[in-house]
Amino acid sequence: MTAPERKPGVYLCQGCGIAEAISLDDLEPIAGELRVPLCRRHEALCSDDGVKTIAADIASGAVNQPIIVACSHRVMTDRFQFDGASVVRANMREQVVWSHPAGDEDTQMLAADAVRMAIAQAANTSPPEPAAESAVNERILVVGGGVTGLNAAREASRTGHAVLLVEKSDRLGGWANRWSKRMPHRAPYRDPQENDIAELVRDIEADPSITVMTEAQVTRTEGMPGKFTVRIKWGGASRDEAVGAIVVATGWRAYDPNKLGHLGYGATPDVVTGIELEDMLADGGVRRKSNGEPAKLVAFIQCAGSRDPDHLPYCSSICCGVSIKQALQIREADPEASVYIIYDEMRTPGTAEEFYRQAQDAGVIFMKGKVKSVGADLTVLVEDALLGEDVPMVGLDLVVLATGMVPNATDMDAPAAEKGAELLVSDINPVAPINIAGFVAEAGEPWPRAEEAPLAGGPILNLQYRQGPHLPILADGFADSHFICFPYETRRTGIHTCGPVRRPMGMAECAEDAAGAVLKAIQAIKGAGQGASVHPRVGDLSLPKIGLDICTQCRRCTVECPFGAIDETEDNYPIVNASRCRRCGTCMGACPVRTISFDNYNVQMVSDMIKAVEVPDEFDEKPRILILACENDAYPALDMAGINRRHYSAFARIIPVRCLGSVSQVWMSDALEAGYDGIMLMGCKSGDDYQCHFIKGSGIAEERMAQFGETLASMQLEAERVVAEEVSIADSARVPEVIDRFVARIDEIGFNPFKGF
Ligand code: SF4
Ligand code: SF4
Repeated sequence: MTAPERKPGVYLCQGCGIAEAISLDDLEPIAGELRVPLCRRHEALCSDDGVKTIAADIASGAVNQPIIVACSHRVMTDRFQFDGASVVRANMREQVVWSHPAGDEDTQMLAADAVRMAIAQAANTSPPEPAAESAVNERILVVGGGVTGLNAAREASRTGHAVLLVEKSDRLGGWANRWSKRMPHRAPYRDPQENDIAELVRDIEADPSITVMTEAQVTRTEGMPGKFTVRIKWGGASRDEAVGAIVVATGWRAYDPNKLGHLGYGATPDVVTGIELEDMLADGGVRRKSNGEPAKLVAFIQCAGSRDPDHLPYCSSICCGVSIKQALQIREADPEASVYIIYDEMRTPGTAEEFYRQAQDAGVIFMKGKVKSVGADLTVLVEDALLGEDVPMVGLDLVVLATGMVPNATDMDAPAAEKGAELLVSDINPVAPINIAGFVAEAGEPWPRAEEAPLAGGPILNLQYRQGPHLPILADGFADSHFICFPYETRRTGIHTCGPVRRPMGMAECAEDAAGAVLKAIQAIKGAGQGASVHPRVGDLSLPKIGLDICTQCRRCTVECPFGAIDETEDNYPIVNASRCRRCGTCMGACPVRTISFDNYNVQMVSDMIKAVEVPDEFDEKPRILILACENDAYPALDMAGINRRHYSAFARIIPVRCLGSVSQVWMSDALEAGYDGIMLMGCKSGDDYQCHFIKGSGIAEERMAQFGETLASMQLEAERVVAEEVSIADSARVPEVIDRFVARIDEIGFNPFKGF
C-alpha cells in the first residue's frame, strides 16, 4: 500500500506569552523555506476557534500533518487530536519561552530550531498501522490459591472474566488456613479479627466463573497477552489451556529458622517461630514445648533474620503486627501472662498504630533494644537502647522469633528448567558485559541457563521465551516490578504479580494488591485486542518493524529487549510478539544496521531532527548541546522547569526519546559531525533500584556510551563531550543546573573541531 502524500501545515500559537517573547514574524518564513506550503498563526490554538481552524484545513484536504507550534506535547493531547491526521508538536511554550529570557537573540534562535526540528519530524512520521486486531482470550489464569490468588480470582470474576485458578497444594487458602485470627483490617483497628479465609474459599468454590484446579502446576507457558497457552499438570496428566493474561500470586515461604542459631533456635524447643506459635494459638493454648506447661512469661524477638545483611536484608513488613496480634491473644487467654516484645524499630504504619496502642494498653511490654544472644536456658541478653546497657532476661517460658517472608518467585519443588538457549553473549556483544533478564553474563559467557541462574528452584511458569523460562527477579528475590510507576507489571507483558511474591505484605494488603494486578491483567488483554501497548506507552499502536532484508541475525534486538518480546524464527531472524512489546524502542537503539523502525519513531527521524538545527560556526561563540531526554521523567522535568519559569541555557536543543535504550549511536555521531559541541543523555536511574520505565534502558545506554567512547577517540574528541545524567520527574529544579553546568564544561573544553565541516 502506498503511503498517502504528506501535507504538512505549520500552526503558530500566539498565546501563553509566546508572541510576547519571540518574533513570530521571523518564524513564519521557516515553513516556506522548508517547503511547508501552509503556515497560520492563531491567538490561542487550543481555543475552540483554534482547533476549528486546524480541523477545517484537515477536512478540506489541505493538511494531514498539522505541526502545532505551541505548548508541550504532554498537554492538550485531547484538543490536538484529529481523525486521519498525524499531529506533530513543537514545544514552544514550556521549553522555549517559559524557560528562556524574552526578546533575546538566543531564545529566538532556539525557537527557530524548534520549528525546524518539528518539520523534520513530520517528514519522517506516519500514523502507526496497528497490528491486525484478532480475537483475544479473555480468561485470566491465577497461579496460587492463597489469600492473594483467591482475591485475584474473585476480583477477575466480578469484572466478568472467566478465571482458571491453579493451586499446587490440595486445598485453597494457603498460609491463612493456619492463622488463628488475623490482624485488624476494619475500624477501630484495635483488636485481632476473625479469620475469614473459609468464607472466601467457599465463595470461590461456588463461583461458576472460576475453575479451580488444586494439586495442579503450570509446567509450560507460551504465547503473549491475549493468546497465552499454558500447560497444566493435573491429576497425573497434562492439558493445555488458553488464557489471555496471567496473575502470579505464588506468595511466600517462611525464612528458614535453622539459620537463626544465634537466636537460640534449635538449642531448645522453647524457642519457636511466630508460625509455630500461631499453630499453638489455633490449637487453643500456648505452652512450653519442652514440658507442656503453660507459658506465663513470653518474649518476642522482632526482625529475627530480617533487616539483617547476613540473612534477609529487607523488612518483612508484617512481623511487628503479627507479634502484636499474638501478644494480645496470649494476654487475652491468660491475663496473668507477661509478654515482652523486643524490637529495634516498631513498624506499625497507618491504622496499625492503633493496634500498637491497644497492645500497650493491654499490658504488653515493649522493649527497645537489640538481642545479643539467646541461651539454651532461654536467657535473652538484650542491649537495651533506653538504659544503654545489656539487660539479661531470665525465667522466660517461651521465646518467639518473628521470622521474615521469602518470596516464592521460583518453584522450590519444581525441577530445574530444561537447558536454555545456547546463544552466546560473545556473539552479540564482544565488548561489554550485558544484563540479560536480570542475570549478568560476562562477555564470552554462554546465555545464562536456568540451572546456572542465581535462583533457587525451578521457574514458576516455565516461559518458552527466547530470554529464558524465569520471571526476572530483583536483587532480594522478589519478582521484578517498578515499585513507583507500575507495581503490578513484570518484565513479561501480560504476566502480573501481586501479594508477597512482589513484596512482603499482610492479608488486607494482599486483597488490594490482587485487585490492582487483575485490573492490569485486564488492561493487557484489552490492549492486545486493540493492538495497543500497555504501560507506560498506554494505547500506543506503533510496533517495531524489522527490515529483514538487511538484518544480519546478530540477535542484539532479541537480547536487549527488556520484555522478552522478541523470539527468533528457525532461520534465526527476529520475530516480534506484538502484544508483548511495550514500544520502548530499545531494539531500535540496539540494531547495528538500523533496520528496526516505528512508523512514528525511527532512526531517520531523530537524525533529521538533529541535523535540522542550525549550528553557528565557532566564531559566533554559541555552542550547541544536544539533549536526548527520556520522555518518561527527564522531559516532564524539563517541562516542569519551564512551568516554574526556571531558566537554562538557550544553547541546548532537546529531543524527547522513548527511552534512553532507544538511542542509536548514529544519532551521537550525526550530532558531532553536524558540529554540536556536546551531547547529554538525560534519563532515569539505572541499577538494582532502577527508575527506568523500560527497566534496562538507562543501563543499556550506559553500556553503549562506553562503547561510543571508542568512536569519540577515533574522532579525536574528548570523552567528556558525551555524558549521561540521571534525573527523576521531580528534578525540575535540578535540570536547569545540570544543563548549565554541562554548557559551562563544554565552554572550558572548547568548540567541536568538526564545526563548519
Ligand atoms: S520496542 Fe521494546 S519491547 Fe518492543 S520489541 Fe523492541 S525492545 Fe522489545
Ligand atoms: S534486526 Fe538488527 S539487531 Fe535484530 S538481529 Fe537483525 S540486525 Fe541484529
